[in-house]
Amino acid sequence: MDLPTLATEALRKGIQLIGTGDCLHPKWLREIRALEKRDGGFFYKPAGEIGENITTTFVLTVEVEDTRRVHHLLIVPSISKAEELYESFRKYSPDIDSDGRPSLRLNGAEIAEHAKDAEALIGPCHAFTPWTALYAYHDSLKACYGDMAGYIPFVELGLSADSSYADRIGELHDLTFLTNSDAHSPYPIRLAREFNRFHMEEMSFEELKAAIKRERGRKPVLNVGFPPQEGKYNESACIRCYTHYSLTEAITRRWRCRCSGLIKKGVRDRVNELADCDGTHPEHRPPYLHLIPLAEVTGLALHKSPSSKAVQKIWEALLAEFDDEVTVLIDAPIDSILGAHFDFNSDAHERVVEAIKAFREGKVRILPGGGGKYGVIELRTGTREEVKELEVKQEPERGKMKQRSLLDF
Ligand SMILES: [Zn+2]
Ligand SMILES: [Zn+2]
Repeated sequence: MDLPTLATEALRKGIQLIGTGDCLHPKWLREIRALEKRDGGFFYKPAGEIGENITTTFVLTVEVEDTRRVHHLLIVPSISKAEELYESFRKYSPDIDSDGRPSLRLNGAEIAEHAKDAEALIGPCHAFTPWTALYAYHDSLKACYGDMAGYIPFVELGLSADSSYADRIGELHDLTFLTNSDAHSPYPIRLAREFNRFHMEEMSFEELKAAIKRERGRKPVLNVGFPPQEGKYNESACIRCYTHYSLTEAITRRWRCRCSGLIKKGVRDRVNELADCDGTHPEHRPPYLHLIPLAEVTGLALHKSPSSKAVQKIWEALLAEFDDEVTVLIDAPIDSILGAHFDFNSDAHERVVEAIKAFREGKVRILPGGGGKYGVIELRTGTREEVKELEVKQEPERGKMKQRSLLDF
């Protein structure tokens, strides 16, 4: 996850602007400082075959944890502001020099005050997950941010929720939804597994800020992310054996599994509790595109792990032909993918095209994630009999089901 790797891999995924993460960490900040700088953006131009004028822009970001263990995402305008924030947080943090995501002895409102002083944007991240998240410990933005609630321009939805979940909560209607990938590794199934598309005039902090705040015609135009069921905390489930429970069942059992493990409330149930409206989207809300990483789709087609050599080879070949994942998954005509010449065998070629087609047609079946385990995806390709057989095979008790998706790693 060094900056050159991030820059190179981001471009291969079709991402132009990426958060640095961890921007208060002194050593990480030193590396960021070494990048070429312009307008609050930091550039890195990967060497090699990627086009002459293409660069990846970084914007300074960091997650911090408050006293209630809520995580906040800060988007910081400049190195000097990051240094200012580091100084002002340092006296409240035992681990700011060692942890990229420092824990602060400050509450949400106090952190928002500091962010405001540094002209940084702040909002809750992975807001609905049952750990370290705003709605895990609070029932409203106000409860977390107090009088600073009005300063919060965005909420980051996390992998287990999408706009249809979040817009059932009235207080979120005015906020911009961010769908960030929160990647902890640069592999193609992690980096940019979720992303946002904004209308901006150039790659800079100021433009991003305007887009998030929907000012001067800048705005988000698309959220892209996992189907929420694929997230690790979509349904309520035991964190030890992953047995899923309905909300009533979990309450009756006092959140204890029959294995005596803890049942963690799923995002779906939490949103149902908080919902105070019918989920009609406000006018400004962009569409939400559910995307499964291309390496995952390819892996499903070949019954191989998304990180296997075979899948990697096909992924590279598809990208060499069509530039980026979104083009392959969404935009390129199926016939042109089928007609393209690749140096892998024609059977694999056909199966991959079949899988992409199934994905586009929504023939996706997901066993929801829960208790910290990602959901499992099946693409319904093949004959009806095969699909039926697949369904029968997939029906065993969820808690006992073996993880099949590589997203588990
Ligand atoms: Zn976090
Ligand atoms: Zn259990």
